[in-house]
Amino acid sequence: MAEQRRPLPPPLLDSAAPFHLVLDAELRVLQAGPSIQRIHPKGVVGSALSDLFQVTTPKVSYTFEELASQPRSLFLLASMTRPGLVLRGQMLHDGDHGLLYFVGSPWVTQTASFTSLGLTLDDFAVSDAVVDYVLLLQSQSSSLTEARELAARLNDTAEQLTHQAFHDALTGLPNRSLLLDHLRRTLDAPDHKTRQVAVLMLDLDGFKAVNDSYGHSSGDDVLRVVGGRLRAVARSQDLVARFGGDEFALVMDAGMTGSTFDDRTVASVAERVLDTLREPVSLPSFPAIAVPLSASIGIAYSHGLESADDLLRNADLAMYAAKSAGKSRYECYRSAMHVESLSRLDLAQQLRDAVHAGELRLLYQPILRLDGDRFAGAEALLRWQHPTRGLLVPHEFLDMAEETGLIVEIGAWVLDEACRELRRWQDAHTGRETLGVAVNLSGRQFGSELVTTVATALHTQGLEPGCLTLEVTEGLIAGEGTRAHDTLRALKELGVWLAIDDFGTGHSSLGRLRDYDFDELKIDRRFVGDLDTGDTTLVSTQIAMAHGLDMRVVAEGVETEAQLGYLRAAGCEQVQGYLIAPPLPPGTVRGLLAGAGEWSANAPGPVLHGVVAAGR
Ligand code: C2E
Ligand code: MG
Ligand code: MG
Repeated sequence: MAEQRRPLPPPLLDSAAPFHLVLDAELRVLQAGPSIQRIHPKGVVGSALSDLFQVTTPKVSYTFEELASQPRSLFLLASMTRPGLVLRGQMLHDGDHGLLYFVGSPWVTQTASFTSLGLTLDDFAVSDAVVDYVLLLQSQSSSLTEARELAARLNDTAEQLTHQAFHDALTGLPNRSLLLDHLRRTLDAPDHKTRQVAVLMLDLDGFKAVNDSYGHSSGDDVLRVVGGRLRAVARSQDLVARFGGDEFALVMDAGMTGSTFDDRTVASVAERVLDTLREPVSLPSFPAIAVPLSASIGIAYSHGLESADDLLRNADLAMYAAKSAGKSRYECYRSAMHVESLSRLDLAQQLRDAVHAGELRLLYQPILRLDGDRFAGAEALLRWQHPTRGLLVPHEFLDMAEETGLIVEIGAWVLDEACRELRRWQDAHTGRETLGVAVNLSGRQFGSELVTTVATALHTQGLEPGCLTLEVTEGLIAGEGTRAHDTLRALKELGVWLAIDDFGTGHSSLGRLRDYDFDELKIDRRFVGDLDTGDTTLVSTQIAMAHGLDMRVVAEGVETEAQLGYLRAAGCEQVQGYLIAPPLPPGTVRGLLAGAGEWSANAPGPVLHGVVAAGR
């Protein structure tokens, strides 16, 4: 571009741009605008650029050649001597004189104030340096109006770019880069060792279910509301940022109020955050629905040694601990958490390998039809035969499988394997063609490929679709997630049975069930357990409702004859539970179906024993 090669007489800049710098080939300051001169008590001329500013975008240290080769790109210079002051502007190369010109305007981060920077309002009024400068450049060759327009456009873009680079578009909050930058600057401040910083890392609980159920635009609405509530709860000097997804962070600086935090300050902010989120969020697209929220919060404090990355990692580990401890709470970082996280990472890696190493197993828990007390089939339940830790049950690794996305691969394996086993049962025994298998699905499996995976598994084994029941939990249908809705419909068209599992344990209402075409309702074992205390209301209501919607009822976790007796009388169609049989290895089930086998040693429950012994 012609204007960058044209010699730029320094005096012109002097008056036009209070925030300009002229740099020589060693990146030393030859000349500086009046406002920059004031940034350092001794003035800045003669200093190395790197002693005064850190170039923050997109990398930290540059050579003269690198800066010169990127004319018109937006650069940010973070002041090393005035925390909070960032200059945003452009580097222009004056090839004729071997000089670099930086012309910028101040851009103040959230925590800096005019007075703390020693700047006056006047500085800001005349600080539109990019506009002034470009205007002067252009006016030598173009019409003034044209130059003005160009200058305005350029300035808008610069502003936009700066904002976009450091803010989250959805909530308008600072993003991770800005928070990191702020944290680094705070921790680098000379008095930091005596001034404490606290980082609160926050992750919404169950946000995925909101997204799955109500669609992404409602998810966005929820995130915006959360952002607003966090900002309202935080003290004005705290930095609130969104890290992407459903993760937010809050940085508190004790330097604003003293030097270290007392026991209550940070905890009370965490408690207020938890409280404010409990207030249900109403969704503009679903006026009848208010989504209750909760979050898990991890807190980490600086002790004068941690880097910004250390602090964020510690807060993240503490947040993870809050999740594992039951969610909707906060935890403070302890060094033991680091060790735990290493073993988690290890576990994730091992799970990845487990799929290929063939360490996954399926157990089958028999399901009994109450009309005639016959086998209806079984529910496939996943286990991990870990090489050193033994047989792991789903709650020890399923979250990890969902978090890492491995559940998609694992789920496909479960479907294949369960169908293969069902084929064996049906083949081995005449009259067993109506036997079925039930497979649990996780919400994360609800993608475009699920229907194909199911269809392929059935087709490969030549099974009737009606033999396969797919169990989904109510989180998936808590709202009106279109993706889940469409997938469920496609599965239904395929002819498989759809069951709603663990009904009544989450948020969904009875009303919601009507919008979906489920074939079966599984009564959670919690409600079956209530029968022992004489509390039959929930079970009888669920049965009546399911029958009203033309659904079959399967009761889970049946452990006593009394429970079975009640369920039978109440018209429940099928039962499953330790009274009938625990989850069994496939070989044992095959033996049972043959009416023989060493199954008593495996202690299936007394009822199944009776059924099998009677040869029914
Ligand atoms: P679920 O689908 O509700 O499965 C029933 C759980 O209750 C099983 O636990 C089963 O072992 C247990 N159970 C059965 N009868 C009784 C009883 O009489 N008393 C008691 N106390 N418990 C009984 P499990 O195998 O640990 O599975 C836990 C959950 O993990 C399952 O709950 C299901 O949601 C999930 N899961 C299991 N396999 C898979 C899978 O392949 N994919 C997915 N996505 N989830 C799975
Ligand atoms: Mg289930
Ligand atoms: Mg269940």
